[in-house]
Amino acid sequence: MDIALEPDLHAFRDMVRAFLAEHLTEELRRAAERATSVFIDPAISLPWQRILHARGWTAPDWPERFGGPGWSEIERYVFAAECVAAGAPNLAPMGLKMVAPVIMHYGSPDQQAHYLPRILSGEDYWCQGFSEPGAGSDLGRLQLRAVRDGADYVLNGSKIWTTHAHFANRMFCLVRTSNEGKPQAGISFLLLDMQSPGIGVEPIRTLAGEHELNQVFFDDVRVPVANRLGEENDGWSVAKHLLTFERGGKYAPALMGQLRRLRGHDVPDPVIRARLGREAVTLRALQALEMKAMRGLGGGAALYASALKLLGTEAAQRIDTLACEIAGPAAWSEADGQTPASLAVAVPRYLNGRAATIYAGSNEIQRDLIARQILG
Ligand SMILES: Cc1cc2nc3c(=O)[nH]c(=O)nc-3n(C[C@H](O)[C@H](O)[C@H](O)COP(=O)(O)OP(=O)(O)OC[C@H]3O[C@@H](n4cnc5c(N)ncnc54)[C@H](O)[C@@H]3O)c2cc1C
Repeated sequence: MDIALEPDLHAFRDMVRAFLAEHLTEELRRAAERATSVFIDPAISLPWQRILHARGWTAPDWPERFGGPGWSEIERYVFAAECVAAGAPNLAPMGLKMVAPVIMHYGSPDQQAHYLPRILSGEDYWCQGFSEPGAGSDLGRLQLRAVRDGADYVLNGSKIWTTHAHFANRMFCLVRTSNEGKPQAGISFLLLDMQSPGIGVEPIRTLAGEHELNQVFFDDVRVPVANRLGEENDGWSVAKHLLTFERGGKYAPALMGQLRRLRGHDVPDPVIRARLGREAVTLRALQALEMKAMRGLGGGAALYASALKLLGTEAAQRIDTLACEIAGPAAWSEADGQTPASLAVAVPRYLNGRAATIYAGSNEIQRDLIARQILG
């Protein structure tokens, strides 16, 4: 972590370091080092989640009453940075960082009591059912139909690009419950069980040859009305709230860790060394912005979320490119066992990282949102 800490944070940092030194196994650390995506395989992320859960540290950002540790913003930042520095795996964001905040905000007490502890422990693994073959950037046009039948909705249609749907036992899903008025006004937000009869999950292979994405088909799938979050036809408000959490976040600690590893290699080319130096400066600025956003300085959570998504994902792609250039022919040498992991997975990581400027709302759309919010 490169920020200067106030003296009273040293004890907190040391406590986190001691915990990581004791509990982060070499096996988990090595698996995380070879991961090519921010979405880490649950075979790696869930064991680490269970270790954190036993200490009460799974969800640093959650309020204490729902099971968060009650840390200040800066303590959360220190924790995230120390986890990265130690090489801990990412936890899956779909439950902890995306659907949990909206369950806290829009959920009934029963929904909160049911879902939140299962998200914390990792018992439930979530996927996000927003995009459809005909609705991505223009999400308001989604067509997955949900028709009321007694105490259930009956769902027909399809979701696409659904990350980790093949692992998930739960999906949060946007469905069309009305065709009246503006397209956004006929959408509802459902929490559903992936084991429900009528759900089919088909893999989509990425450019890097990995199975991370899926298309999910719904054929007369029954979902209890009680599983709706928020009011019928008000799912757009829930989704907008959720997207703020999906887009914002802490990019700088992980990128600083990646850059530090690259700068540890012998880099004879002065131009590449200069580009590494420039990224180090860029990341300092990103870190300052992230800390400002966390403290709510200047307001505008959605504006910060869009800006951080843009700056974080574009810096990540530049750093992935540098990794490939530094690695040269070793950039896809998974099998040789000689090349350091930060270089051996450079090409698959680069290919996977191309998606970062597309998912969570493409960067063109983020630029549009920023322009609209600033220019009115
Ligand atoms: C790796 C990956 C994981 C994903 N995971 C999930 C997931 O788990 N759940 C989920 O629901 N979705 C997921 N998505 C889908 C993602 O949210 C969409 O791909 C994204 O919103 C873009 O939609 P689209 O692919 O339909 O592209 P389109 O909307 O068709 O856009 C195509 C191009 O046109 C540009 N464009 C479109 N409209 C405008 C405009 N108004 N102004 C300027 N440019 C515009 C876009 O920026 C893009 O470059 C994932 C995508 C990827 C790549």
